[in-house]
Amino acid sequence: MEVKQNPRTVDEVCKKGQLEEHRDTIKAIFTLINEKGCKIATRYERPTSSVDWSAADGPIIRLNLLSNKEPIHIIWSLLHEYGHFLSGKPATARLDDDQQMAREVLAWEHADQQLIEFPELCECRQAYHQYRAACLKTYEDKRKM
Ligand SMILES: [Zn+2]
Repeated sequence: MEVKQNPRTVDEVCKKGQLEEHRDTIKAIFTLINEKGCKIATRYERPTSSVDWSAADGPIIRLNLLSNKEPIHIIWSLLHEYGHFLSGKPATARLDDDQQMAREVLAWEHADQQLIEFPELCECRQAYHQYRAACLKTYEDKRKM
């Protein structure tokens, strides 16, 4: 079921995110996600992305454009959140650390599968794997506390 995506969001991500060179890829990722029944909106109120399952007309990926160390991180973040969407809505809002870690790993596994669909992004796969490892490490560190 294809959802009604705000067509200006691709523009916004390319301009504000300094990703003009990846416009075609971003467009293709948006189409893929929209076709699976998920929308994408931007967020500036906090520096993390997430899937919002609470909207009445279906899930929305809230993509962080507030702060990213590198523009390409926005694309990795988008693929990761899409991975969370593909993993499905969590059974409970309060996951323990192990459950949360398992969800993070699963979301990245889905993202890995998406990455290979985009040859242009595969050229950046080293940067992707660095970002992926850094994200997972923040969860591991949290678990150790
Ligand atoms: Zn995540």
